[in-house]
Amino acid sequence: MIVVNLAGKIAAILVGWTAPAAALALWFGPDALLAYHVFAPQAQGLVRMHRRFTTARREVWLTIDDGPDPEDTPRLLELLAKHGAQATFFVIGENAARHPGLIRAIAAAGHEVAHHTHTHPLATFWCASPAGVRRELDAGLEALRLAGVRPTRFRPPVGIKNFWLARALRARGLTCVGWSARGLERQHGDVAAVAARATRGLAPGAILLLHEGPRVPAAIRVHAIRRVLERLREQGYQCVVPGPEQLTGVKPAGKDGN
Ligand SMILES: [Zn+2]
Repeated sequence: MIVVNLAGKIAAILVGWTAPAAALALWFGPDALLAYHVFAPQAQGLVRMHRRFTTARREVWLTIDDGPDPEDTPRLLELLAKHGAQATFFVIGENAARHPGLIRAIAAAGHEVAHHTHTHPLATFWCASPAGVRRELDAGLEALRLAGVRPTRFRPPVGIKNFWLARALRARGLTCVGWSARGLERQHGDVAAVAARATRGLAPGAILLLHEGPRVPAAIRVHAIRRVLERLREQGYQCVVPGPEQLTGVKPAGKDGN
């Protein structure tokens, strides 16, 4: 993609004097394309990000980001047990280092612990250097290793990619996981709206994204996930953690649901 970008700039300079409009398009077009592949959660150009899994059953994958959290995680574990649901917790390394006991509790309850960067650098991850990306990945891996967990899956903050991410993930055996629907808790401050959003266009193989911790509005923390679990049960869906074979060959196409 860098090549396309540079080629666009060179072509723009070459045609610049004779065709200014074409030059502008050539100069900025590749930038727009690049920005799309970095910032759009559904884009697949820089990193292959799984947005569905293969299943013949009425199953979905519940993923919970931004923990572990000393208030929410224990309540979520109780809730998931009550519903017989399995989930993947995409945890932040710093939080894991602060609460290794919660990481162990998640794993002991049969859920998956996955990697969600070490510091959750929302504003800067897109432009992090190769060393910066490696630091985020390795510090998070180390925090999880100390808690006895070796994750195989990764999700960048809000799905933002980075040029150096694909290679860094490959080197660490991490698969990038996106989502097909998300609750958008901070935009929809009430339980019903979040649950409706997270289960929109529900179909077997959907990947649902919800959050725990202080970034979720206080009134809906845990409650939104409870409502999602109730909705899933009403519609006969089981929450599972898919195996790696269910993620290979998944087409990136399909509606984003965001
Ligand atoms: Zn996050």
